[in-house]
Amino acid sequence: MRGESTTLSDLFGFDYFSCLRSDYAKSECSICIDLCPEDAMVFDRSRLTLDTQKCTGCTACVGGCPTEALSSELFDPNRFAVEFPGRSGSMISCKENVPCLGALSVEHLITIAIRSGSEIVCDLSHCKECPVNSNTLVLKSIESAIEEAQKFLDAAGIKRRVSALSEASRSEADIGRRGLFKKLAGIASQIGEERTLGEIASGERERVPLKRVLLKNALKAAAEEIDGASISGSGFSFAAAKKIDEQSCTNCQECAMFCPTGALSLLRDNSGIIFQSGKCIACGICDDICRPGSIGTGAEINLVDFAFDRMQLLVKHKLEICEECKVAFPYRGGEMLCDRCRDFRENFSDIFTLAKDMQ
Ligand code: SF4
Ligand code: SF4
Ligand code: SF4
Repeated sequence: MRGESTTLSDLFGFDYFSCLRSDYAKSECSICIDLCPEDAMVFDRSRLTLDTQKCTGCTACVGGCPTEALSSELFDPNRFAVEFPGRSGSMISCKENVPCLGALSVEHLITIAIRSGSEIVCDLSHCKECPVNSNTLVLKSIESAIEEAQKFLDAAGIKRRVSALSEASRSEADIGRRGLFKKLAGIASQIGEERTLGEIASGERERVPLKRVLLKNALKAAAEEIDGASISGSGFSFAAAKKIDEQSCTNCQECAMFCPTGALSLLRDNSGIIFQSGKCIACGICDDICRPGSIGTGAEINLVDFAFDRMQLLVKHKLEICEECKVAFPYRGGEMLCDRCRDFRENFSDIFTLAKDMQ
């Protein structure tokens, strides 16, 4: 996301600065750790690091990472999402065109389905015997992504299908790790280098994952179909609606400061907070960081707003200067005191009352 790989093996890149764990010390994101069949992700002094000796570059974790901190040197899911619709056939298979379907996120599957204009089929018939699925979580994650992609398309009113081929009819002998490397290398040679990511990305890529930019571009192309459509604000793993309770929000602005994608930003005069659903990755950092619990999940996401990055004003405060600390604060009537100074004064008055009583 921010384009700097700090740990890199021959097969696999890990952009330390894009990981939610690096952005926010209290982040509990463990999607990659949970998915990795080799236990190659480890914590080192509370920082996530990649053990390059263990990582096989299987890409099973890549699709699950909300920020694109993880990347494969051999397979680029964003390029695949752009190029797949132009290829023949509608089957996505680890025997034909991807190293592992786990490399594709829900957003990639939706993008591919919209751009393909027809049904796409995900070949899961090899997963059960695959060494990458040794922990069984990889298959569950792929199945969940397919289900979520279809749920999104249905809610959006986009008539496309993402389905799974799960019968064992296409199974082959266990390819093993050596075979996996060969297959990955073969796939890498199939992917043309003529299209750079810069050509398919917009200026957003500094902070918003490229897979999100591709999804929004696909939705823009389907603008007539999504006109008037909304999805649940809490029903998807990769997107969320947000709301802020004006009465309890202290305008501390920490939610906007820590939002990793810039989905939350400040009004020019710092008197309020703006939200762009098209940039939110549902990481939950804002909910976690808000001390009064003022920010929460909204009811629904309008898909035209999402696709075109329309701004939504979540909260706007009337600011006044606190007569104690001289700092601007959200004024709700009564004394010209910010919450902190009011608390301070109340606590002090308690202490003074107590001291007086003891005399
Ligand atoms: S899934 Fe991505 S954001 Fe989450 S811990 Fe792993 S690298 Fe970090
Ligand atoms: S919503 Fe919470 S974190 Fe954001 S400005 Fe208001 S009080 Fe601060
Ligand atoms: S708005 Fe909140 S949930 Fe969405 S990306 Fe920003 S911090 Fe994460």
